[in-house]
Amino acid sequence: MPTHPPLYVDVVFPTSVDTPLTYRVPEELRELVVPGKRALVPLGTRTVSGYLVGTRDRSPVPQTKDLREILDAEPLLDAHLLELTRWVAEYYLCAWGEVIRTALPPGIDTLTRQVVRVTAAGTAVMDGGGLLRAGERELLAYLRVRGEAPLSALTRRWRRARPMAHALTRRGLVEISGEVRPPRIRPLTIPQYLLAPGVDAETAPLSPRATRQRAILRALASRSAGLPRGEAAVGPPAALAALVRQGLVQVKEVEITRDPFAMPEPCGSLESPPQLTPAQAEAVVLVQGALQDRRFLPILLHGVTGSGKTEVYLQAIQHALAQGRQALVLVPEITLTPLTVRRFLARFGGRVAVLHSGLRGGERYDAWRRIRRGEADIVVGARSAVFAPLPRLGIVVVDEEHDPSYKQEEAPRYHGRDVAIMRAKLLTAPVILGSATPSLESYERAQAGRYRLMQLPQRIEARPLPRTEIVDLRRVDGGERLLTPPLCAALEACLARGEQALLFLNRRGFSTVLVCQECGAGAGCPHCSVSLTFHAGRGRLRCHTCDFERRPPERCPQCHGNRLRYLGFGTQQLEAAVRERFPKARVARMDRDTAQHWQAAARILESLERGAIDILVGTQMIGKGHDVPNVTLVGVVSADMALHLPDFRAGERTFALLTQVVGRAGRGDRPGLAIIQTFNPDHYILRAVQAQAYAALWDAESPLRRELGLPPFGRTVLAVVSSPAAPDAQAGALEMARLLRAEGMGSSSLSGPAPAPLYRVRGRYRWHLLVREKETAQLHARIRRAARRLQASAVGRRVRLDLDVDPASLC
Ligand code: ADP
Ligand code: ZN
Repeated sequence: MPTHPPLYVDVVFPTSVDTPLTYRVPEELRELVVPGKRALVPLGTRTVSGYLVGTRDRSPVPQTKDLREILDAEPLLDAHLLELTRWVAEYYLCAWGEVIRTALPPGIDTLTRQVVRVTAAGTAVMDGGGLLRAGERELLAYLRVRGEAPLSALTRRWRRARPMAHALTRRGLVEISGEVRPPRIRPLTIPQYLLAPGVDAETAPLSPRATRQRAILRALASRSAGLPRGEAAVGPPAALAALVRQGLVQVKEVEITRDPFAMPEPCGSLESPPQLTPAQAEAVVLVQGALQDRRFLPILLHGVTGSGKTEVYLQAIQHALAQGRQALVLVPEITLTPLTVRRFLARFGGRVAVLHSGLRGGERYDAWRRIRRGEADIVVGARSAVFAPLPRLGIVVVDEEHDPSYKQEEAPRYHGRDVAIMRAKLLTAPVILGSATPSLESYERAQAGRYRLMQLPQRIEARPLPRTEIVDLRRVDGGERLLTPPLCAALEACLARGEQALLFLNRRGFSTVLVCQECGAGAGCPHCSVSLTFHAGRGRLRCHTCDFERRPPERCPQCHGNRLRYLGFGTQQLEAAVRERFPKARVARMDRDTAQHWQAAARILESLERGAIDILVGTQMIGKGHDVPNVTLVGVVSADMALHLPDFRAGERTFALLTQVVGRAGRGDRPGLAIIQTFNPDHYILRAVQAQAYAALWDAESPLRRELGLPPFGRTVLAVVSSPAAPDAQAGALEMARLLRAEGMGSSSLSGPAPAPLYRVRGRYRWHLLVREKETAQLHARIRRAARRLQASAVGRRVRLDLDVDPASLC
């Protein structure tokens, strides 16, 4: 690093250009140049903003353009985050600037602006008739009337405003400063349903057949504040709509707090930590040692749900804070894990900053600045929080480290857990990976001694794990396969005891396929190779891949026959079946359709907690980290779909998912029961779930993975070549295969090209190439070279190439 002001800088860009470019720094900007700031630079014919990533004394190229302007007073990223983002770019084969953009709060470019003001000297020169060019005088006059103006407004008015303003700054006649634009935040309202004034739920004039409407009135009668739609509507939404039409029910827009985790100032009544169990204490002592020695120490904390992992995080963090260091906690999906977040708030109060998807641009930016100023000691957030700018970070926690949502499915395709581990490594700090069902990757590393394995063998207070029964669907009549007799009996008993139940089904919608019984044709998405799902609420067919929607056809589009039949079932149908079978139960559904926004998810979970829901039907959303002691029954309605996904991780995923769902039962002092319905009752995965035997999963999965060189025994990189034209996609994939082979990849390490299992998505045809290697040295550089050569070729220009390092899914 040069000690005198740098002559040249390297700049990377949020998009398009994927290599750093070198610019000369004009004299007057030299003192301001610091890596981590943003700058305006010429690129082609435009002026764009980029990130300064390095300085140099000499340019590597003979011709350089001049940097135009420095946009920030303080660097947005410190040296550590620059190094981390650079590692992410190199490892995940993406552009450094793209990673930096991801690391910064979204919209930061629109949230800061540059403001120009006239100085006293400027006023004096104008009044004294000092030497000014015509344009400059005009600009100063404009500013003087207004006092100040954003630079962007000036450049809209005068094409040369920017260089003029800079020339004037150098003469001290104006000053330019960066300012935060006040975020525009609109209050958030949701419709709330309540009884119209004077309406009595029992005597309101309804036809005797309108039992559903009567039930709604009764439900609303006990709630003077009203109910949100999801809870007010019993049965089809038409009943509620009819009541509104008749004037018996009113709809009121109610403003809700936008941040459920916004904390009042620390109030002194923070919860005190419990005495640790010996197993917990051992883990905490281990972390404490690493904190003291400032040592990189990855720890895999393996313990069933309820075994006290969260308590280990809390106390380990306590030790870090006592040393004046800070903590980063990653959780899979904040809105579905309100309980974990609340535990952090209860213990540490206002020292916690929660980064969650419900924050709007301005709020997110505020939280980010608060963290960067060092005003929050603990950051809890999902994947992207791994880049939170904590200046004194000393410990990293990744809860549910196996969760697939840590992998970003768009560029930059980084894995939040793995970036967290690298961050801890760069900082030489401990990192705790916690899970009841560790990923095979982490487990293998623990076996190999690269991570320390800590086990929490049983639930706190030796609360029993739920008993799991498997129901063989082959022995159940077709009509009873949704709610089998054993599941119905268990539900009835559960309701009779006044306890609550969860019913899990991993498919949304009402029916999953529409087929013609004359010719067998199915209704598929016109843009994707998937069939459309029927959604009863809107009466429409919908693509779950691209969200395409259409009205169901009256006749078969192929043969024009009229015997169309709906097959397969989703959560909507399950909900309807439950309501029909248990008409008195209070039933709710949680999936992407009813809980698209985080507020809705939080509200449903809150209703479950306060006992307002007897049976909650839902997708994997219901399986995450909530803990309702009164939930004693969990039903897995169909375990088969997940088992048969065309993906080498299908078994591992199903094991984790079902273990998590099943673990929701019996978290209180009453024992829980889980019922799994399946056509494959002897499947080893289901047996492993039933026995709560992680070792059985490992024993069954690892030999095959080892033989095939798949993770955790080898690295994979998936190359997806796609195009709207099928022949182009294929030609591009063949060319990419040739280029990879030219880089020395033999048949043992290269599979494909082959059409992707999901062949068409959003109108693009997709081909897969899977690279597998035991050794990673050089692998990424070779793939990068092949990718560059493809992009430069004639066929390469007609296709898109997406590289996915350590892909989470091979569909
Ligand atoms: P996990 O994160 O593994 O699901 P938690 O840390 O949430 O487990 O612990 C489960 C329950 O046991 C929580 O209610 C927690 O407050 C309680 N708990 C954890 N550790 C202890 C302890 N050492 N003594 C008493 N209660 C504990
Ligand atoms: Zn589609």
